[in-house]
Amino acid sequence: MATQDAASPWVFDTRELVRRAGTMTEFSRAVTAPDQIGTDVIAIKAGDPVELDLRMESVMEGVLGTGSVRATATGVCVRCLDDLDFPVEVTFQELFAYPDRAAHHHKVAAGEDEQDDVYELEDDLMDLEELVRDAVVTTLPFQPVCRDDCPGLCSECGARLADDPDHHHDVIDPRWSALADLAQPGTDDEKKRN
Ligand SMILES: [Zn+2]
Ligand SMILES: [Zn+2]
Repeated sequence: MATQDAASPWVFDTRELVRRAGTMTEFSRAVTAPDQIGTDVIAIKAGDPVELDLRMESVMEGVLGTGSVRATATGVCVRCLDDLDFPVEVTFQELFAYPDRAAHHHKVAAGEDEQDDVYELEDDLMDLEELVRDAVVTTLPFQPVCRDDCPGLCSECGARLADDPDHHHDVIDPRWSALADLAQPGTDDEKKRN
């Protein structure tokens, strides 16, 4: 079991609430993302600001965390390679179980291959990092585009078609342009065609 870092901006102390079902507390926290949250193409970068709202409610099994995360992810358009911003706003609600309850749950789930998704309180701390990471990654586009109708780059010469909509080359067999798309940039054996 990983020990939790109380200095992490994603960790909240639930001690006031623990074992007092029905009590509740709310936070707003401006977090500086300690690590990148996202994928290779788009992410909230390390050092970027994240607004985190959290309501913690003590329930029988543990502490229920309900909240939202707002930030701006940055990345590149997969078509034209321009930089782009993507506003992130996600909500979440998860139970952080008391370790004894969670242990019971693990026992019940034992024998199944599937990863058991129950979050646990450790030392009465609620660590939102994994939860926030999963929620944000789920909302990010797999293939971000700067705009829905981004025309991308010319497959022949790499020019940005948005800058030059009438751009064209003397037509070659379209099967060749499909092959050109597959060719790695910078390979020496590209055939010159005129
Ligand atoms: Zn684009
Ligand atoms: Zn071109």
